[in-house]
Amino acid sequence: MSQRTFAIVKPNAVRSALVGEILRRYETARLKIVGAKLVHASREKVAGFYAEHEGRPFFPGLVDFMSSGPILVLALEGDNAIADVRALNGATDPAKAAPGTIRHAFGPTMGSNVVHSSDSPESAAREISYWFSADELFSYAQKSSVADV
Ligand code: UDP
Ligand code: MG
Repeated sequence: MSQRTFAIVKPNAVRSALVGEILRRYETARLKIVGAKLVHASREKVAGFYAEHEGRPFFPGLVDFMSSGPILVLALEGDNAIADVRALNGATDPAKAAPGTIRHAFGPTMGSNVVHSSDSPESAAREISYWFSADELFSYAQKSSVADV
């Protein structure tokens, strides 16, 4: 059964031209892009997104960082999309992220790791609908060749 998850390429990664590299990793892992847009979110929008972390010491810095420039918001679909994208991204602290993961490859710090992804089916559903309207999400069949119409 296919499953959807939500991911973000954070502003430092957009600024550093890592969008293509990160999307390549997701696509290579057979995750289908079913929603994608560049957004420069307000502080309020970011604070609402990370509401579960409100009051924690890192929260103000996280809001500053995530509203500092455009981010790429993504809805990704795959058989085990939630766990697969978490695994591709790696541990929250890049210093602890396993080799081969995005956070290990690009760091740079816990507070400014380069990607986000949902941690459960409930957060995936909430996060997709927090950033995307229904007409910004797509269903289509993936093909193995561009010639395969
Ligand atoms: N974060 C931080 N310090 C912490 C915990 C989290 O700076 O002690 C930041 C980090 O950038 C992380 C984000 O807050 O990506 C959300 O935290 P969460 O625990 O949900 O980690 P994630 O799901 O992104 O791995
Ligand atoms: Mg999280």
